[in-house]
Amino acid sequence: MERYQVHEHDVLVVGAGGAGLRAAIEASALGCNVGLVTKSLLGKAHTVMAEGGIAAALAHVDPQDGWQTHFRDTMKGGSFLNHWRMAQLHAQEAPDRVRELEEWGALFDCTADGRILQRAFGGHTWKRLAHVGDRTGLEMIRTLQDHGVHMGFDVYMECTLTRLLKDGDRVAGGLGYWRQSGEFVLFKAKAVVLCTGGVGKAWKITSNSWEYTADGQTLAYDAGAELIDMEFVQFHPTGMVWPPGVMGLLVTEGVRGEGGVLRNAKGERFMWKYLPEARRNEYAADEAEARRWVEAAVEAKQTEDRRPPELSTRDNVSRAIYTEVKEGRGSPHGGVFLDISYLPAERVKRKLPSMYHQFIELADVDITKGPMEIGPTTHYIMGGIRVEPDTGAATVPGLFAAGESAGGMHGANRLGGNSLSDLVVFGRRAGAGAAAYVKSLAATPRVSDVEIEAEMRAMTAPLERTQGESPYDVHKALQDLMQTKVGIYRIEAELLQAIEELAALEKRAALTRVGGGRVYNPGWHLTRDLQNLIVAAQAVTRSALLRKESRGAHSRLDFPAMDAALGTVNMCVVKGVEGMRVAPTPLPQMPAELKALFEPAKELVR
Ligand SMILES: Cc1cc2nc3c(=O)[nH]c(=O)nc-3n(C[C@H](O)[C@H](O)[C@H](O)COP(=O)(O)OP(=O)(O)OC[C@H]3O[C@@H](n4cnc5c(N)ncnc54)[C@H](O)[C@@H]3O)c2cc1C
Repeated sequence: MERYQVHEHDVLVVGAGGAGLRAAIEASALGCNVGLVTKSLLGKAHTVMAEGGIAAALAHVDPQDGWQTHFRDTMKGGSFLNHWRMAQLHAQEAPDRVRELEEWGALFDCTADGRILQRAFGGHTWKRLAHVGDRTGLEMIRTLQDHGVHMGFDVYMECTLTRLLKDGDRVAGGLGYWRQSGEFVLFKAKAVVLCTGGVGKAWKITSNSWEYTADGQTLAYDAGAELIDMEFVQFHPTGMVWPPGVMGLLVTEGVRGEGGVLRNAKGERFMWKYLPEARRNEYAADEAEARRWVEAAVEAKQTEDRRPPELSTRDNVSRAIYTEVKEGRGSPHGGVFLDISYLPAERVKRKLPSMYHQFIELADVDITKGPMEIGPTTHYIMGGIRVEPDTGAATVPGLFAAGESAGGMHGANRLGGNSLSDLVVFGRRAGAGAAAYVKSLAATPRVSDVEIEAEMRAMTAPLERTQGESPYDVHKALQDLMQTKVGIYRIEAELLQAIEELAALEKRAALTRVGGGRVYNPGWHLTRDLQNLIVAAQAVTRSALLRKESRGAHSRLDFPAMDAALGTVNMCVVKGVEGMRVAPTPLPQMPAELKALFEPAKELVR
């Protein structure tokens, strides 16, 4: 039997982004012995890249705001497929979590009287995003880490978890490897909290980093947990399209929140054409009203004017840009133009410093002098591990999840800024849920040597094969497939082809071969990441096939309208004896007092 290190904790948190750090802080504060595993360095989790802000109804800039409006916006943005209880907890608790970050040392941009400043974002009725220029994620991670180091939890960096271990039906820990040495490491734990982020590396054009390989979703799926809403993948409307080396890199929605205007190659401000009729009255009627709104926003003044059409929801703006390009009105490199250069250069540089540097350094474009070329990029997955809203408990005892790896909060489409708030609201709840579970256990679960041996054999197989394909080739084929057949617009014939091709890719991925040894070998790491990505890609594609309607971020060319019956179900993915099973499960019913917050005739559109 191969030797491996062993560590033991009450709670093992997997992931050191906003959700993982907040979960670890909470479980430690409640007296648990906590270990935190991250496959990158501490401080490098994807959350650090978050730019535009964290949504919370603090009502500092627009005093009309409150949790009820935030709840309504979130439900409407998610086309009512969100778990109502998650949306409620999120809207109610986000302000306290933001204030807590400030108490722990976060330095947000401020109003003239020293309160946290808030900016506009798509789909939010009021200016709601607390922010630090366009580097909000960096400040959040810095704050949570500074606070976390005093909580006494152990951090295991550059360590990748590849398998959850169970004792009967309960989670008992996990097995992983050190990325540097390639040696295996066993974590015995009474509870595991998965906070591993998203799946964006399954697509070719993506804003996501190398870490987004669907690890948490697949760890949970393999352990028997349910995944929901996997068909809902958000394509952010504004990614860089040029030069090719940076294609997909995010251009924050903060640019539009600060007044950025979208135009096609003919100079037309096209977003008015694409506003959904039911929501048109929420937006400025013409350029003059939109301009007045921006001027009021710049001066942090109240206004009766309505927001510009560029602040429609992300799914809608992405489809609009896609259509403009497809119909021949795109920019030279296949995008459209986003322009904020009409505002004073000093303000653009102060409010959007990262965007200014990103475009100067990577594209030789000065955004204070001219427009950016942008187009949609794969950004976020709304679906994920099904959790119980109050505790973050997954459907396997001892397993918890929070952040982007969990599903339910955002329904069919996430509003910008609602992820960072999701991380701290539900990271905290999952940490508390895990701590309560640990305290309720009568006996410590035991790991199985047989499971450990099997996982180590599976992991080392690609290094031992004498023949086999490169995992990089299979990854490229996967990204091309998902980009072309499971992208912004979907249609039955292509989804069916994609399912067939994914089955072939699954077989190829199981037989890859890598040279070299286990010491820092990224090719070897990819062999496992690839298997995870293919599971996620299959879950997305199969769920998308079953959802024969267009809703939120899921747009079917063959079913362009919403179907009321499908508005009452989540697509649920589980691992069956004969492979992946996908079936609709009923959506929890919103209680009457929350339904009463909507105007039934206009807003409860399913
Ligand atoms: C460029 C960009 C800008 C964004 N801006 C905003 C914004 O302004 N506002 C907003 O609300 N949202 C924004 N988002 C979305 C938001 O940043 C993410 O959804 C969020 O940060 C995810 O946080 P998380 O804690 O779930 O995961 P992450 O921060 O991604 O952390 C995941 C952690 O899991 C670890 N991990 C993964 N797999 C394993 C494994 N197998 N073993 C061990 N560790 C593992 C990783 O190393 C990492 O530490 C943005 C996203 C991008 C890409």
